[in-house]
Amino acid sequence: MAESAVLGSISTAGAFTFLVRVDCEHGEAERWAGSAEAEERGFSAMLALLRNAGVPATLAFVGLTALTYPRWVRDGVVAGHAAAGHSHTHARAYAGQPLEWQAADMRAMADAIQAAVGVRPRGVAGPCHGAIDANTLRAAEMTGLEYVLTLEPPAHGSSPAGISLSAPEMGFAPAAGGPASVQVPPAGMRWIWDWTSLQPGWPAFTTLRASEDWQAAVDDAVAEAGLVGLIVHPWIVHTNAGELDAIAGILDYARQRGACFQTFDDVVSQPASTPTPRRTPTARKAGRSL
Ligand SMILES: [Zn+2]
Repeated sequence: MAESAVLGSISTAGAFTFLVRVDCEHGEAERWAGSAEAEERGFSAMLALLRNAGVPATLAFVGLTALTYPRWVRDGVVAGHAAAGHSHTHARAYAGQPLEWQAADMRAMADAIQAAVGVRPRGVAGPCHGAIDANTLRAAEMTGLEYVLTLEPPAHGSSPAGISLSAPEMGFAPAAGGPASVQVPPAGMRWIWDWTSLQPGWPAFTTLRASEDWQAAVDDAVAEAGLVGLIVHPWIVHTNAGELDAIAGILDYARQRGACFQTFDDVVSQPASTPTPRRTPTARKAGRSL
């Protein structure tokens, strides 16, 4: 993975962190866009855009997608991106499923990604808006995963086991009461994403609306030196007119505002971001993990 160094992280003191996540799910492309070709084209377009922008991303693969299109995983990792998981089948949310079911799903997902590219993923992005529960964190621990991504954690204390599903600090950290080896995003993390009217309940995508919403999230994150996660989907990128321009635009905007572009593998490798008197700035300048 020496090629990873090509897209190294750029650290800026006091800056905010911008994380690009590309959810790769050919089954959703078939379901909503009519074929996996939309996924393939959108994926290629995203790799080209990220290369031009010099931005590393986290590619979150559905296990079945990695099994069916292993070349996508290899192309992504060779280009310097991190490969994470996005469940094995994308059939349902993790929340509410038995522990053994969740663990078996994550094992199959991790095996599929490892078979494609030779390394095991370090994290999982839950499907269905990241709905997870306390068992998801335990299943991740059983699978050897280091982080679980969820978009809208329930309020602290609302999970059945009394486990908070978001990190109590400004950076990634283990959930209070959850496994120490599994990190989750902070509650204040800002998530933005693309959308398509091909799915019921969503308005048509417009570059203007996306730019306004996405820039507002960046502005908020700048003010708090926080985290922004942008989630895009190759088949949606391919089918939305203007989405590539919107993505290139927000990466430009974020860079102008001092973004430190990192992968999720990067941020979980860093020490917790809560400032302590003992921590020097250099201690927080984590390099890319290979
Ligand atoms: Zn998904």
